[in-house]
Amino acid sequence: TKFVYDFTEGNKDLKDLLGGKGANLAEMTNLGLPVPPGFTITTEACKVYLESGSEPAALRAEVSEHLTALERKMGKKLGQADDPLLVSVRSGAKFSMPGMMDTVLNIGLSDASVSGLAAQAGDERFAWDSYRRLIQMFGKTVLDVDGDLFEEALEDAKQAKGVTVDIDLDAVDLRALVGRFKDIVAKETGREFPQDPREQMDLAVRAVFDSWNTDRAKLYRRQERIPGDLGTAVNVCSMVFGNLGPDSGTGVAFTRDPASGHQGVYGDYLQNAQGEDVVAGIRNTIPLADLEAIDKASYGELMQIMETLETHYKDLCDIEFTIERGKLWMLQTRVGKRTAGAAFRIATQLVDQGLIDEAEALQRVNGAQLAQLMFPRFDESADGKGGTATIGRGIAASPGAAVGRAVFDSYTAVKWSRSGEKVILIRRETNPDDLNGMIAAEGILTSRGGKTSHAAVVARGMGKTCVCGAEELEVDTKSRRMTTQDGTVIEEGDTVSIDGSTGKVYAGEVPVVPSPVVEYFEGRMHAGAEDADELVKAVHRIMAYADRVRRLRVRANADNAEDAARARRFGAQGIGLCRTEHMFLGERREMVERLILAHTDADRDAALAELLPLQQADFTELFEAMDGLPVTVRLLDPPLHEFLPDITDLSVRVALAEARHEKHENDLRLLQAVHKLHEQNPMLGLRGVRLGLVIPGLFAMQVRAIAEAAAERKNAKGDPRAEIMIPLVGTVQELEIVREEAEQVIAEVEQARGVSLKLTLGTMIELPRAALTAGQIAESADFFSFGTNDLTQTVWGFSRDDVEASFFTAYLEKGIFGVSPFETIDKDGVGSLVRSAAAAGRVTRPDLKLGVCGEHGGDPESVHFFHEVGLDYVSCSPFRIPVARLEAGRAAA
Ligand code: ADP
Ligand code: MG
Ligand code: MG
Repeated sequence: TKFVYDFTEGNKDLKDLLGGKGANLAEMTNLGLPVPPGFTITTEACKVYLESGSEPAALRAEVSEHLTALERKMGKKLGQADDPLLVSVRSGAKFSMPGMMDTVLNIGLSDASVSGLAAQAGDERFAWDSYRRLIQMFGKTVLDVDGDLFEEALEDAKQAKGVTVDIDLDAVDLRALVGRFKDIVAKETGREFPQDPREQMDLAVRAVFDSWNTDRAKLYRRQERIPGDLGTAVNVCSMVFGNLGPDSGTGVAFTRDPASGHQGVYGDYLQNAQGEDVVAGIRNTIPLADLEAIDKASYGELMQIMETLETHYKDLCDIEFTIERGKLWMLQTRVGKRTAGAAFRIATQLVDQGLIDEAEALQRVNGAQLAQLMFPRFDESADGKGGTATIGRGIAASPGAAVGRAVFDSYTAVKWSRSGEKVILIRRETNPDDLNGMIAAEGILTSRGGKTSHAAVVARGMGKTCVCGAEELEVDTKSRRMTTQDGTVIEEGDTVSIDGSTGKVYAGEVPVVPSPVVEYFEGRMHAGAEDADELVKAVHRIMAYADRVRRLRVRANADNAEDAARARRFGAQGIGLCRTEHMFLGERREMVERLILAHTDADRDAALAELLPLQQADFTELFEAMDGLPVTVRLLDPPLHEFLPDITDLSVRVALAEARHEKHENDLRLLQAVHKLHEQNPMLGLRGVRLGLVIPGLFAMQVRAIAEAAAERKNAKGDPRAEIMIPLVGTVQELEIVREEAEQVIAEVEQARGVSLKLTLGTMIELPRAALTAGQIAESADFFSFGTNDLTQTVWGFSRDDVEASFFTAYLEKGIFGVSPFETIDKDGVGSLVRSAAAAGRVTRPDLKLGVCGEHGGDPESVHFFHEVGLDYVSCSPFRIPVARLEAGRAAA
């Protein structure tokens, strides 16, 4: 295998092998853009190293070969004393992991070559500045020296001189600082800072490999669901210098605004600076637009290049660049992260620009982003009322409305959120060590840093609300408080609200209002209106693309007319699951009690007769709300004890009454019934179809209510399309018995009302046995609806109500699964049963209708799976319907 690729050899599609950074450096090189020459060591080499503990045998020679070629091209040798070639050693995995892996700049500098560099550049200060940076970065990332030691020494040097910023240190100061830094390295590591340039390079490469497995990197990968075995590539890139004086500098930019999607000039620039200086917030950056006044030629070239990149990648790109004495160099590009709103806007803008088609536009957005856009926002008009007050304003870095209690460090953020508190993490600026706290927090607020700061980039990636660079807020993490300009103090634990869409920071809890996207889905805002929100227009268009191409139909889980109507506004094409148990609650509970306690047939029939008209009225409303669309009604499913009083409460009541010699006959009978119905494993006990088989008349009453309601709607010239669904079937015999009874009832109603109802009768597939015998079950079923919640419970033997709290965290941490199987369908296990049952059912009955109800119906990844196995529809909660429509479209596009 080839382990090393020159930048001229790669391209953007080789991300698996060269990592994102390497692949894009190669792509830019081949586009003819000014990229400093270099080469990339592949992820394969990293994998060998991580597996075996040492670099592949062939690597050294291959690196030497490429280094020699680079030296020839540059006309100087790595670390050459009179004119050193310097390089950066940069990590770069397939997926960008902001701040996760460390980069070392200025490799090749040593006591011998520092003066050569000074002589060549004609700048002593620059050479010593570069050397101290090398020792600092190398010390910290390669030699594991505590970075604060270097920071403190730098602080001391500035203080001794009475200056505040690094550029005010001159060559003599920096040379002294290099001495201090070397002492720190010697003292902390027990050896001198390595002077051999090749040794520096090799050690740095290995450090990049090692950084793949730091806790920080592992945590980020788990959070972002990035596989742990990809490894990172390493880029060796010849140095260009932004720290060569005022005609040099370094910057970052976006080809359009990652928050709004608007085209324009977005970025930050810092004169006389190197590498991370821009994002680290060591000095205040200037807006990229101001570069035009400083260096018109470089600015013009940069604008040109940004346009080239956008047209080439057909997407928003972010870039890193450096200007060395008026010459522009491109150091990185990638398709940039963006907010959810910007993703929708950019996708439609690119369609309008003719850069991408509609199918591609669908791939540029996803359901998680749409769900994010449906979150409520702050009610601006409430500002200043009810004890809330605007206390500052920062940069709107990642949208959302977050409310929580102020915490000033990650540890507290994690601790408090574990105990159920909502927290806002407030920091001066964040760094990778804050990741845990950022994950735990509702939102993140910083007082320093811009749109490209660590906090902003990471928060956007996580879809978390973030306001950064709120400079008027004085954050004091040591005493855990923040002071506003007018002297208001926010202590740890005080409630604050932050708005990631406007950048506003409030003391107190600001009330929220619905998002415009929800207003649009609700039909209260029209995308066609002149003044319609830009975002709403974009969402409207994308949804139209999705609806046009999707094959899966989307239904709602809804039990009442109100939910049904909302679901319909959100685009539901029917109801996939109406749970009738919700119709047994409230004041009807007493009737259910009477049913359960009935001693004689007459008592039981009386109780059922009481329930019948109530159920019928529920169904009538539902069929009316969903007129013309299918409504799947599931007959009673849960164990009956759920409708009875709690056993302990009841026992106490009975005991008290006994002691007081009060009348308690009824409670006593209830208690006996509760005891009789008590089960060790109610979820595997008397429920679902089993209820229908042992409680005479129960299912018949429900079927009659459905049929009567349908007849009523028919007679009112409606178009009811009821489907009767039997839960928890394990064998076709159960279904046959229920079907026979149901058909008889339906026939009676049809005859009595003089209508033909065309009701269908199907079953849930939610037990492994049902899935395994689906071919037989289909003989008696008009449709299957996969109940993937119960199916997951029974296939895994997990009790959903118990395991998520007890051991799922451990399972997730150990990587046994990347995500809970109750959230995303377990394709290999549960999914494979769905696949085979669907196929077997259709062998028996080619026109068998197939759907899924349960949480998975609204989960993006699961929707793709259901599309792939050929189901007809998914059913999910009303609020998830737009997400399911979008994902069904993406799956089909
Ligand atoms: P990250 O992945 O954290 O962005 P990079 O490898 O891109 O790390 O490098 C960190 C910083 O150093 C960036 O600002 C980058 O532009 C700069 N840098 C990297 N290589 C060079 C180089 N050869 N010359 C000048 N600056 C560089
Ligand atoms: Mg970078
Ligand atoms: Mg179930």
